[in-house]
Amino acid sequence: MNFCEGCNIACDGERCPKCGRKKLRAVTEDDFCLVARVDRIFGDNLKTNLENEQIDCVLMPYGTGVKAQFALPLESYLLYVRYKNLDHVRQILKEKNG
Ligand SMILES: [Zn+2]
Repeated sequence: MNFCEGCNIACDGERCPKCGRKKLRAVTEDDFCLVARVDRIFGDNLKTNLENEQIDCVLMPYGTGVKAQFALPLESYLLYVRYKNLDHVRQILKEKNG
């Protein structure tokens, strides 16, 4: 598995699926990788749950420009977790989404 340091994306291929960069390095267990975009309430709950499981996660605010433009109350986060926890957290998201 490779890792793009610019996008924090783990990918199988030689090229980052987001920015197209080709000089990727091998991912390590502790690299923070992008998982998904989650809504704010879900993200806050998830962070609490993951902290209870001693799993590090990072929530980056996302979509504040849209919020300002349309005066929407909903904000979302980009969720990042360490590569070693990626499958586990993806599974949690899958279960939550039914
Ligand atoms: Zn990239």
